[in-house]
Amino acid sequence: MQPCEHRGCTAAFAEQWNTWPNLVTAVRTIATVVAWAVAVTTGSGGWLLAALLCYWVGDIADGLLARLTHRETRTGAVLDVLADRLSVCLVVVSYVSTHPAAAVPATVFLGQFVVIDAYLTLAFARWSLLSPNYFGLVDTTVYRLNWSPPAKATNTGAVVLVWLLTGSPLAATVLAAVVLGVKSYSALRLTRLPTPPVLSGCAVLDVRAATN
Ligand SMILES: [Zn+2]
Repeated sequence: MQPCEHRGCTAAFAEQWNTWPNLVTAVRTIATVVAWAVAVTTGSGGWLLAALLCYWVGDIADGLLARLTHRETRTGAVLDVLADRLSVCLVVVSYVSTHPAAAVPATVFLGQFVVIDAYLTLAFARWSLLSPNYFGLVDTTVYRLNWSPPAKATNTGAVVLVWLLTGSPLAATVLAAVVLGVKSYSALRLTRLPTPPVLSGCAVLDVRAATN
């Protein structure tokens, strides 16, 4: 089949897992786990912050490298989702064990991130897409709410930043609940999208085949 013109469709590349961006994902996850292990054995808040930063910087770096070098893969997108959940769970659970005031916003945030956001982020595989970054080819609303650059920045960082800056459980919980609401709405919308009968290699053709 002739590859389509869309950058985010799977027909553009042969799938593989041994890419530089996936190596960056592996290294940043190991670095996060090591920094977290040092933090819990020494009781150091600085090392826990270092673990969070390893995750944050590494998560931006692997995605950016994949896009800039045109080495995005479906395997990489899935590994990235799993590595993110492991990193965030370790850091947040350890943080709450020494800062119990954060328990409520952290619970709302983890529920949203580990369950609903993971479901949303992995749903791209129902279409011939390389990653959620191209979900606009399938549904522009779900894309804008979840993976457009401003949505990504607020969904992942806002609750943590508000907590660190204000220390207010109420403000952090309200914000976490708003994100949970946006994710829940997106998940409902996603469940109603018709699933294509076969993967054609082009997400736009998949959508057409599913709605006809
Ligand atoms: Zn296409």
